[in-house]
Amino acid sequence: MEKVAVIGCGAYMDNGYGCPGEWRCLKAASLGEGNFAQASQVVSFLKCECPGRSLAPNMGMAMKLSETKPDKIYLSSCLVNAKPGCPYSSADEMADILANKFGVEVIQGTHDYH
Ligand code: SF4
Repeated sequence: MEKVAVIGCGAYMDNGYGCPGEWRCLKAASLGEGNFAQASQVVSFLKCECPGRSLAPNMGMAMKLSETKPDKIYLSSCLVNAKPGCPYSSADEMADILANKFGVEVIQGTHDYH
């Protein structure tokens, strides 16, 4: 079973529109649905905070403190598919930064639930 980290858009989550912190990302990971190719263990769940500058350091800290390097990092569907989009960086840029810094595959999007 893969170990995964999930990153949600904090600006979205904090506005209570039905954020990924409730069940969607967690259900998709546990059942292997959406973009999860198999049932996966969520070993960390991070909330990006505008303007996103602390995201990579926070991911590194989560790995250090949990003593667990995830097999994959997932950017949540709310982060990747946001309309209007993130004003600070694209999902591609965020994925590249995380993949280059940690050497971990970054998947864009978690679930297709409504
Ligand atoms: S920087 Fe972008 S992805 Fe991160 S919380 Fe702000 S709007 Fe969301």
